Amino acid sequence: MSTLTVENVTKTYGDVTALEDVSFEIEDEFVVLLGESGAGKSTLLRCINGLTEPTTGTVTLDGEPLAGSRPSVGMIFQQHNLVEGVSAYLNALTGSLERTSLLESIFQWHDRADKRRALEALETVGLLDEAHQRVSQMSGGQQQRVGIARALVQDPSLVLADEPVASLDPGSAEDVMGYLKKAATVHEVTALVSLHQVNIAAHFGERFIGLRDGQLLFDVQQGELTPAL
Ligand code: ADP
Ligand code: ADP
Repeated sequence: MSTLTVENVTKTYGDVTALEDVSFEIEDEFVVLLGESGAGKSTLLRCINGLTEPTTGTVTLDGEPLAGSRPSVGMIFQQHNLVEGVSAYLNALTGSLERTSLLESIFQWHDRADKRRALEALETVGLLDEAHQRVSQMSGGQQQRVGIARALVQDPSLVLADEPVASLDPGSAEDVMGYLKKAATVHEVTALVSLHQVNIAAHFGERFIGLRDGQLLFDVQQGELTPAL
């Protein structure tokens, strides 16, 4: 578990202000980031995981600046970026590598601890029996669960998920969110998950941070999320 501190983060792209003076702190929580398309959710997650630099402001994890590559931050994407032709197990195992490459994961020698972690992570997302199935044979929801397992194998203290259920039907979306929440609890990671579906958010979130036009619109606890928002 860890503390993520976002302080006065502003990000501009030319004339576009994607984020404007956003500040919050998250500690040991399952937080949902809400906002319509274009609100700045991806930009915020990218500023946190280091894929982009804030124009001004700082991001720290447990007081340390988050600069360069961030093995302590696990990332889950809408497009899961899995290698479809190989097994769920091999995909999960690539999470143990700092530079994720399938070739490396197949040919590199993995120690037993890596292999055990990959299987444990697949068990967390309910896919132990399917560990040796090819990802291409799996449903969209199962594939996204493999993506969660891969992020867990890095043993992160913070997991970021960018619209992880946006391309799934409502049933699968609930299912995947359930596993994501379970994963965060079992592996004791702080999670920041962006969603645009308020009903799914309300079901799983412990705290909700809302963005609109790059600005922090609300920051509320479970039970305080009203439909008017
Ligand atoms: P969301 O994830 O909530 O849909 P984004 O963070 O993707 O929002 O986008 C926020 C705003 O910043 C939008 O106006 C978007 O067009 C703009 N934006 C995002 N990334 C870039 C970029 N690389 N270059 C220029 N504008 C960008
Ligand atoms: P999202 O699903 O978060 O809305 P987008 O489809 O807006 O994401 O953006 C996908 C990619 O394109 C991101 O890398 C983002 O930074 C970039 N991007 C978004 N808007 C713009 C823009 N107006 N100009 C250039 N790049 C952009």
